[in-house]
Amino acid sequence: MILYNPRLTDIKFVKGIGDFRAGLFENLNVFTVNDLFEFFPRDYMKREVEIAIRDLVPGQYASLNVKVVSVKETPTRTGQKQLKAIISDGDRIAECVWFNYGAWLVKLLEVGKQIWINGQVKEFKGNLSLQQPQIIETKEEEDTQNSFWRDRKILPIYCLTAKLTQSIVRTSVYNAFALYHNGIEETLPDFLIQKYAFLPRKAALQKMHFTSDPSVIPIIRNRFVYEEFFYLQIMIAKNAKFKTDVLKDKKHINSNVLSNKLLNLITFELTNAQKRVIGEIFQDMISEKPMNRLLQGDVGAGKTIVTLFALLLSIENGYQCALLAPTEILAEQHYHNVKKLFDNIKINDETDEKITICLLKGGKSKKKEQEKSKIASGEIKLAIGTHALFQKDVIFKNLSLVVVDEQHRFGVLQRAELSLRHNYPDLLYLSATPIPRSLAMTVFGEMTISSIDELPPTRKPVKTILMYENRRYTAYEAIKEQLNNGRQVYIVCPIIEDSEKLDLQAAETLFKELKETLFVNYTIDLIHGRKKSKEKELIMKNFTEGITQILVSTTVIEVGIDVPNATIMLIEHAERFGLAALHQLRGRVGRGADQSYCYLIAYATGEIAKQRLQTMVHTNDGFIIAEKDLELRGAGDMFGTAQSGLPEFKFANLVTDQDWLHKAKKDAFFIIDEDYDLENEKHDIIKKHYEQNIVLKQPLSNF
Ligand code: ADP
Ligand code: MG
Repeated sequence: MILYNPRLTDIKFVKGIGDFRAGLFENLNVFTVNDLFEFFPRDYMKREVEIAIRDLVPGQYASLNVKVVSVKETPTRTGQKQLKAIISDGDRIAECVWFNYGAWLVKLLEVGKQIWINGQVKEFKGNLSLQQPQIIETKEEEDTQNSFWRDRKILPIYCLTAKLTQSIVRTSVYNAFALYHNGIEETLPDFLIQKYAFLPRKAALQKMHFTSDPSVIPIIRNRFVYEEFFYLQIMIAKNAKFKTDVLKDKKHINSNVLSNKLLNLITFELTNAQKRVIGEIFQDMISEKPMNRLLQGDVGAGKTIVTLFALLLSIENGYQCALLAPTEILAEQHYHNVKKLFDNIKINDETDEKITICLLKGGKSKKKEQEKSKIASGEIKLAIGTHALFQKDVIFKNLSLVVVDEQHRFGVLQRAELSLRHNYPDLLYLSATPIPRSLAMTVFGEMTISSIDELPPTRKPVKTILMYENRRYTAYEAIKEQLNNGRQVYIVCPIIEDSEKLDLQAAETLFKELKETLFVNYTIDLIHGRKKSKEKELIMKNFTEGITQILVSTTVIEVGIDVPNATIMLIEHAERFGLAALHQLRGRVGRGADQSYCYLIAYATGEIAKQRLQTMVHTNDGFIIAEKDLELRGAGDMFGTAQSGLPEFKFANLVTDQDWLHKAKKDAFFIIDEDYDLENEKHDIIKKHYEQNIVLKQPLSNF
């Protein structure tokens, strides 16, 4: 028997799916057969199979074996067509109604034909009808699936996307199991399955889709929640336990020479929190053990300047250092700002030696090859870049410090890889996500944490104004006023992957409209992730230098951008963003001495969305926002999780599943404590699954 590995098998090979439907499934993040196995129903419905029409009750889902008595197509008042059919089971009659249907349906409903009908019973003016029911012909089907689902009393209900129906997904799930269930591998060792009385993976997956008792589902689901937390914690445990006894060969000695030069260059006084944190980082860098520190600080707290002191300490000791940013725009900004300062700092006054800095981005170019060889020779002291910095062919001569900005954008990094490749450099991660500390430790692992818990005194809290879409012109008036005073403005439009094309169009339309009407006398530009990086660079440069007054943008500007002269942040469709993302965006203004404003433009919203947006109006405190975000996210907030700074989970919920998080953490740490490399036979399953499926999925695994 051939065993297909469901994790490696594209769903297009599942019977009945093919290329076109595979594309639809992609919208649901289902790419492989395993993804389909893990595509759990969002709900289940109970229905009566083979019930008589006389026994139907409103609200019930039912499957009826009936004969078509009459069919009639009529236009509705809105000009749409409506199809009505009268059906009979030989005893009573009932009506079926369809609003959205194709010609195939009319063809199928031949008068006198015997069919199966699945649908929900509605009552309208005392008459029972089935709205939009599904039809199955009774003739012996070649498709086993139909008869399979036709007779089931419990049906799974899946999340759908355009052109996928419940019936297609059910069929696909059934077919996938029929062919590939033998390839389902266990992912948890026996001792853990027994400890929690979990079902084996295969049985658990089958139950999720084909259960005949939905009340057991929450218990079965726990297995997947646990598993997800468990493997995250294995990685974290490995990071935490990674060679804690190793001593670094690139030690730092602090003589304050370069840091004093930097202090003389900057125009502001460091806050006490910044000074304290610099002290903490220096302590780590001077110590014999490699640093593994998370620097946390709200947006605008001034994390960048703190890291510059750390970078200088590395350079002062004759080593190389690297600053890693999640986006090219941010890498460029860092490069320009750091260069401006560091060009004025000589490493050695006598020899006039300067600090050589390079910017390394993705792609291929002759210049990049040159930079790489300068990195290898040690000529480059500071390399700034996106993750291109850590491709395998970028080799440092003596890297002693790596700073990762906006670290949450990278997922959980594998410390071991980073450390081994560069012979244990000091690691400093920056995060603007003010995660509640208890959670931060559990989710991010055992890094030492430094907090900048104080904003620069020059900073005035941003005033936040929430308004409905129809009042946006007041916001535009406010924008004009700021522009006339010489200030600059951001206008942000949401782009959500699911509807990227439409969103992009919307952003472009808004840009054109503003450019040609209201703001025809101002300079305005548009930036989004789809533009070429050269173009983006120029757009950002023009905005930073004040040449562009209004920047219409998608969320590419969300992280890190620093233009102190910008005083208004207007966010379109604010209800579509997560709180953490809104907080990040708002943090782009209020960076200079002037009062800044954030306009949240909301479209029709539900209660939770309203509450969320009100939180933004009431507080500027990232911690409160993070907690609220978590709380509301627990209540089912779908958007913005990617930007929230916490890892994304497929099954688990950080709020409601905390119990499992703690159990998984305890088990994972116990196992890694005892058997770091997972060499013990009883850990075989963990090792295999971890190495084949978990590590590979991490975005920076090729460090
Ligand atoms: P973040 O912590 O969000 O990364 P940045 O490092 O970008 O914040 O700093 C935001 C702005 O505040 C920058 O323009 C920076 O020059 C300025 N800044 C940093 N520290 C201070 C300070 N102590 N006093 C005044 N301005 C500061
Ligand atoms: Mg920053």
